[in-house]
Amino acid sequence: MSLSWRRSSRAEDRFESWITQQHQRRVLAGETTPSGPCPDEGFLRDLARKSKSIALSDPRIDHTANCRKCMSRLLELRGENRSRRQRIAFTTAIAACALVAVSVIITRYALEKRPSSANETAVAQTVNLWDAGTIRGEQPGQLESESLPAALVKVTIILPRHSSPGLYLVAITRDQNGNGVVAEGTASTVANGDQQRISADLDLRKAEVGPYFLSTTHEQDQAAYYYPLQIK
Ligand SMILES: [Zn+2]
Repeated sequence: MSLSWRRSSRAEDRFESWITQQHQRRVLAGETTPSGPCPDEGFLRDLARKSKSIALSDPRIDHTANCRKCMSRLLELRGENRSRRQRIAFTTAIAACALVAVSVIITRYALEKRPSSANETAVAQTVNLWDAGTIRGEQPGQLESESLPAALVKVTIILPRHSSPGLYLVAITRDQNGNGVVAEGTASTVANGDQQRISADLDLRKAEVGPYFLSTTHEQDQAAYYYPLQIK
């Protein structure tokens, strides 16, 4: 029952829109006679937008429905409204796509950034150079016992006695001439009694296991001191 009612309703809609089309065709062909003067553009715009401020009893509606000029303008304005709505929908869709793209990039960037800092915590290691002979250039001191793991290391270095306080460059190098830098960082000294200590983050994850040198360079002295070191 409801089905047949719906069907007849749809048939009525089709019939009404057919009448409207026939009427529009007659109006646009100039076969109708409008009553009263043409309303202004503002009224036609409101009518095209189906503004609720216009009463159906308004005589200007009757005029527009029968005036060739007003009817064609009304249809034009309707078309503009429709394409503007489509443009807005299109722009909104583009903006939504851009937003998704940006959030994907940000998420990917955050995921890529994470492993080096948050995901992997640095292994704390202490290297004691307090009694190490600090020898420049070709004569490395004896430091066989010192080693660091091939990992992200937060190394605390107890500097040799009589070391100056200040900023140091810490590096792990392949030789005692500063070649083949595997990792480096800067650190300021922290006094602990007579001792000067520095702490630096060194990324040794890509370092091959083997013999290396740990070098320290004071910002003012500029001379690098090398100590043999094993990466295990
Ligand atoms: Zn008119």
